[in-house]
Amino acid sequence: MKIAVLRGVKNFVIEEVSIPSLEADEVLMHVKACGICTSELYLWNGKFKNVVFPSYLGHEPSGVIQEVGRNVGGFNVGDHVTFLSETGCFAEYAKAKKSSIVKIANNIPFEEALGEPIACAVNGIRRSNIQFGDNVVVIGCGFMGLLLIQLASLRSPSSIVAIDINDERLKLAADLGADLTINPREVDVVKYVMGITNGRGADVVIEATGEQKPLDMATEMVKIRGRLVIFGYHVGESRSINMQMWNWKGLDVINAHERESEVYMEGMRIGIMLLSKGKIKLKPLITHKYPLEEINRAFNDTDMKIKGLIKAAVIP
Ligand SMILES: [Zn+2]
Repeated sequence: MKIAVLRGVKNFVIEEVSIPSLEADEVLMHVKACGICTSELYLWNGKFKNVVFPSYLGHEPSGVIQEVGRNVGGFNVGDHVTFLSETGCFAEYAKAKKSSIVKIANNIPFEEALGEPIACAVNGIRRSNIQFGDNVVVIGCGFMGLLLIQLASLRSPSSIVAIDINDERLKLAADLGADLTINPREVDVVKYVMGITNGRGADVVIEATGEQKPLDMATEMVKIRGRLVIFGYHVGESRSINMQMWNWKGLDVINAHERESEVYMEGMRIGIMLLSKGKIKLKPLITHKYPLEEINRAFNDTDMKIKGLIKAAVIP
């Protein structure tokens, strides 16, 4: 089978390897789509320094079951699934433990059924504990932010404010459930949020960028006793925190990125259920598809943030 192996900075090489053999509790999938995650971008472009080459990436797969292990019940050859895999999924085939697989309906396109990032977003919203009528702010309208906005709106908040420096993304945020959209290059966003909340600040602010400035903004615009949800992937440089304000406001600061595997899978099952019911839409978010052979171009386009790209998927 073909697999993309990261051999160095910006250098995936397509290699021919044998199809993995199965343990009794494992399942083999023919990978039909695998999303590109921002966290992988840092491995590819060299921002993340301690990468060991060769490296096998791709953790957002969906596909069709090709073979099931001896002790696997409840799954059959031909089932459409999404899964967490320990092997790189920028490949024609990948295996997973039966406990790490979720079935998807046959009518859902594979590139939309990316269980892993959907699970992250679902778990982020579960941790943020949004209540009916809350004022919610989401900072950052990339793939994750746009997914978080859709999920947050299912909790019936009184308003969702979306913040991004890209007007195209703000337009999409409005289409997907944001009530108000603001661009910090044009508007003082802290003042704005204070204005619409009678000077109190937002009940919940979700930071979905992984950058310093939005973290500071979030600290300033969240209300006393509010919830500051850190969802962005903060990597590399250290962050400074206004501890005095966190402390004075008595904030609940929630690091909402889930790592525990059972909770991860629960989030995935919930997310796929919401996708099947049409409660969340992935179609407008998966804007670019690339064959496996063009994986370097897919990463480059993602890195360059080419116009209109929200998320790219590799189609092996
Ligand atoms: Zn990811």
